[in-house]
Amino acid sequence: MSRPAIDLHTHSTASDGTLSPAELVRAAADAGLDVVAITDHDTTAGWDAAVRALPPGLTLIRGAEISCRWHGVEPAVPLHLLAYLFAPDHPEFVAELARVRLAREVRGERIVELLRADGVDISWPEIMAAAGGGTVGRPHIAAALIRAGLVATTTEAFGADWLGERYRLPKEDVDVFRAVELIRAAGGVPVFAHPRATRRGRIVPDELIVELAAAGLAGLEADHEDHSPAEAAHVRALAAELGLLVTGSSDFHGTHKTVRLGAHTTAPEAYERIVAAASGVTGIASG
Ligand code: AMP
Ligand code: ZN
Ligand code: FE
Ligand code: FE
Repeated sequence: MSRPAIDLHTHSTASDGTLSPAELVRAAADAGLDVVAITDHDTTAGWDAAVRALPPGLTLIRGAEISCRWHGVEPAVPLHLLAYLFAPDHPEFVAELARVRLAREVRGERIVELLRADGVDISWPEIMAAAGGGTVGRPHIAAALIRAGLVATTTEAFGADWLGERYRLPKEDVDVFRAVELIRAAGGVPVFAHPRATRRGRIVPDELIVELAAAGLAGLEADHEDHSPAEAAHVRALAAELGLLVTGSSDFHGTHKTVRLGAHTTAPEAYERIVAAASGVTGIASG
């Protein structure tokens, strides 16, 4: 039997993906995946619908991508932690995620106010409606800019003239050490998402990753479309040095990005380590 295809980072309409959780798991099966993780930004809202729609032969890993910030430099650096198989009812973690989702709405509305002050005719209520209750983010504002005919693509909307710089505002994220602590407290397994993605903006120094490893970080995402081959190799070497597991994933967002499900994958050995380290919820294989 060939090695299973494992993609541990995808988004649905529960955040800024464009497939519903049910469509996402069906697309994962159609793409030939054996294991898929649903990792919407700062929410577990897509979990149940994904479980209900799980096609035969596919294993679902329930997770989330947590919006974090490192306060070791000024201004603080935003970063993402993937959290796998944590208990979705851990009170402090639940409260922190709700706070971040609200902060995203406050920040999104302020970005739209800045754009409107410059004569850009997009509407916050319309963007919230289009997000359909999912965790709102800049891709939703990007979609409104596209609908208004102001930019052609999401990539263009994330350029320096738009959401990448001129109209970029920080959001009130979770302190990264607090996030590691909360994920572990909820029985979950924290993995640093795209840690060397310089093309997205500032990155954190390796010294922080050393500290995070000591604080309970379990792994690093190496193979990701925002890493060059050299960046992925650097992440792999750092993980080996620190005894961290290494993942690869598509970070699939439907039509908000061009990457396909399974574009990068995780080795079965690393996946098994995540499953073995988790105690919050289990992976679910359908019938
Ligand atoms: P936010 O969480 O609101 O700050 O928005 C960040 C989201 O936008 C992440 O999920 C990224 O996947 C997506 N994103 C960031 N940079 C880009 C880009 N250059 N092109 C398309 N999507 C991007
Ligand atoms: Zn996203
Ligand atoms: Fe991310
Ligand atoms: Fe992501």
